[in-house]
Amino acid sequence: MSKHNTSEKIKQIDVKVESSSASKAKTPQKINLLDFTSKKLKDFLVERGEKAFRATQLIKWIHQACVDDFDDMTNVSKALRSSLQETTEIRAPEVIQDQASSDGTHKWLLRLADGNCIETVYIPEKDRGTLCVSSQVGCALDCTFCSTARQGFSRNLTVAEIIGQVWVAKRTLQPETGRSRAITNVVMMGMGEPLLNFNNVVDAMKLMLDDNAYGLSKRRVTLSTSGVVPALDRLRDEIDVSLALSLHAGNDQLRDKLVPINKKYPIKVLMEACLRFMEGKAARERITMEYVMLDGVNDSDQHARELAFTLKNIPSKVNLIPFNPFPETRYKRSSNKRIEKFRDILTAAGLIVMTRKTRGEDIDAACGQLAGKVNDRSRRETHFARIEKET
Ligand code: SAH
Repeated sequence: MSKHNTSEKIKQIDVKVESSSASKAKTPQKINLLDFTSKKLKDFLVERGEKAFRATQLIKWIHQACVDDFDDMTNVSKALRSSLQETTEIRAPEVIQDQASSDGTHKWLLRLADGNCIETVYIPEKDRGTLCVSSQVGCALDCTFCSTARQGFSRNLTVAEIIGQVWVAKRTLQPETGRSRAITNVVMMGMGEPLLNFNNVVDAMKLMLDDNAYGLSKRRVTLSTSGVVPALDRLRDEIDVSLALSLHAGNDQLRDKLVPINKKYPIKVLMEACLRFMEGKAARERITMEYVMLDGVNDSDQHARELAFTLKNIPSKVNLIPFNPFPETRYKRSSNKRIEKFRDILTAAGLIVMTRKTRGEDIDAACGQLAGKVNDRSRRETHFARIEKET
């Protein structure tokens, strides 16, 4: 890994950020319009005596044109603009750093109003551009192979902070790539467990799907979860998006160690939830089963057979993820030969398998390497207990 690759471009944008944060910090009581879905913005405007169609205009200005200055909204009446100016704002997280990897990957370090930092990653490919979005500051789960887990947990992100990542990325990429649709896919696979920040993640995903906002198809918005079963059941009723599941083991003994939430929702319970989730969906739709390849831990022939057995009745495809190392980890990545053998066993058992290409390693932007800067308020145990009650 060449962390200090010469082709790496880093833009430090501190100075500009400081001044804008100072001026905005004076008005923390303003309502952030990035927090609103179309429906909530409509309700908000109607309550203020405005016409409902204004919401569509505003949503388009905010999320399609990426405007944060009301004066730029030329088809909105002056009176409405100035009344919005007084009480509301459009405030995304602040870009502290924008790193571009030699392979075209971008990683943004974003600072939130309370000083915490999160990371967002953009991965361009020939036929698509995928944005990897964070849902929490840190993570309350303790998956042993994930560097976000080492940072502890601080808090859930607001809707504005989640959709703000897409807003910031679009605003940067639109002029850079000359394409209004540089972001074709969003994966909720950044920092945090999205199902433990349910309402805010669902609202942010509604904006991703909204034709007047980001207009992504439901097949191009993917939520990745470690398997919070009650929230998974709720998700189906709330929004139609694609699902990825961090499985990583085909037996409970091993999964208990790698993904500790498995002790609460073991594999059998999880697979039943997956079947419920897929009930009534088109035959081509599948859950992506993520499986991080850890040398000598979960990558034997026997592990592959167990995984195939676990998935035999589930409409799924397997995504093998070569482990991305981070400082002080006890794990190593499985060899390419081992990954190939593992894949062959799964394929022979009739499963669809892909091996994830590792991207953005030189800027620590690969899966599981996102750490941000988290003000750890862990009390992980209490938080964990609380969310279990809530879900
Ligand atoms: N909490 C969610 C989303 C964040 S993790 C979840 O568990 O799914 C996104 C994906 O990256 C998950 O599949 C996760 O298991 C994987 N991942 C985490 N750490 C990794 C690492 N060091 N190397 C490779 N993949 C990793």
